[in-house]
Amino acid sequence: MELTRQIAAKLRIDGYARREHTVMWRVGQIERSGLRVDIDAAEQRIEAQRRLLDRDFQRLRDIAGVPLRGKAPHLQAAGKAAIAATFQRLGVDPPRTKKGALALNQEALSQLVEHHPGNTGVNELVDVLQKVGRQRTFAETVLKHVSHDRVHPAIRADQATGRISVTKPGLTTMGKRERQLVLERALILPDTDDEVLIAADLSQIDARAMAVLSGDPGYIRAFAEGEDYHSAMAEALFGAHEWDRAGHHPRRSEAKVVVHATTYGMGALGLSKAAGIDENEAKRLLGRLDMQFPALASYKRVIREEAGRKQVLRTPHGRTVRIEPGREWTQAPAAMGQGTARDLMMDGILRLPNWLASRLRLIVHDEVVLSVPRDRIDEASTALLDALQFDFSVSSGSTVPVRAGLSAPGRDWADCYRDEVPWPETAWEHRQQDSCDDPECTWHEEL
Ligand SMILES: [Zn+2]
Repeated sequence: MELTRQIAAKLRIDGYARREHTVMWRVGQIERSGLRVDIDAAEQRIEAQRRLLDRDFQRLRDIAGVPLRGKAPHLQAAGKAAIAATFQRLGVDPPRTKKGALALNQEALSQLVEHHPGNTGVNELVDVLQKVGRQRTFAETVLKHVSHDRVHPAIRADQATGRISVTKPGLTTMGKRERQLVLERALILPDTDDEVLIAADLSQIDARAMAVLSGDPGYIRAFAEGEDYHSAMAEALFGAHEWDRAGHHPRRSEAKVVVHATTYGMGALGLSKAAGIDENEAKRLLGRLDMQFPALASYKRVIREEAGRKQVLRTPHGRTVRIEPGREWTQAPAAMGQGTARDLMMDGILRLPNWLASRLRLIVHDEVVLSVPRDRIDEASTALLDALQFDFSVSSGSTVPVRAGLSAPGRDWADCYRDEVPWPETAWEHRQQDSCDDPECTWHEEL
């Protein structure tokens, strides 16, 4: 009893810790209720992928004479020898690891193609090696964790910044930028056929957090209602002279790369690689950003110094984030930006009305997914946006609007993005067809 009292006296149960209990109870809903999975589709995809893999191995045998034995013939001694000999026959040195073994990882293979762009034989061999080297598919991972027709992923907030991770099956790594990856979301279904999935994505939440924290008036202005953030950044970087302000800034996508790379202190060398520009140009752009947003630049300097002195930073919500000594340069701004972004997202989760909170099915990156009855789609969508969107202010007086974009209601999770990505198979309707005339369609290619 005395020991318990002593421990309790030492624990700091502050407002943030209390709030965190409610947060984790609410996001724990995902683990408790689980997600319904389209098992037939998952099995179909695995079967189809197996057929594709067989076809690719046969191609590998035809091109390089790899004997087809076992599950990974290209990794067996005879297979490796055949591949190395084929590279030599095609006039290139086979890629090697430091120890001299044949290197067949994705990086080594793409480098080889970069160095021999005109060698069609090499390109063909690399293409098939990349295909047979693909990792375990999402469908396999999902089925491994399925019980009845649902998965109950583990929801944790064990990173320093408190970001929510979803594992078993891991859903945090799914991207929206690749055709195959978007389609994998088709395996995730609403609770019943009378329901749909609705999804909302917070807009540039890390950058908005940094704007408020730094109080930089120019940076905050980029998030004003009606402004397009990436166009505003393009203007800051490249000037306005080519932009009529009616549509998007002509150099908007270049600005996107630069801003994304520099938010947390990437240096000139890193930026030159990420943006494909020379190092001097990268240096010039970084200098220009610091000049355009001086308060942001000085805020980053101040928190790096503070992290160096105390090894701990505290977000405005009250989360303490430990910074590794010597890594303040990147970790300090990331801790404050990502830590605050996460807290703002959880503000939204806490603001959900109870009936909607119980329908929370996923949190992935900056996106929230819920399963709602068809006859309550409008009501649920309005309530979801009301919860996620609000003005965020800090004691220094700066304010920025937190904003989210709503996807279309989906018959499955991929279907939610049918209006946002250019690939037709994203739409549930398209996948109901027996065939289609898009030769690149990743759904019908496999069937
Ligand atoms: Zn198709």
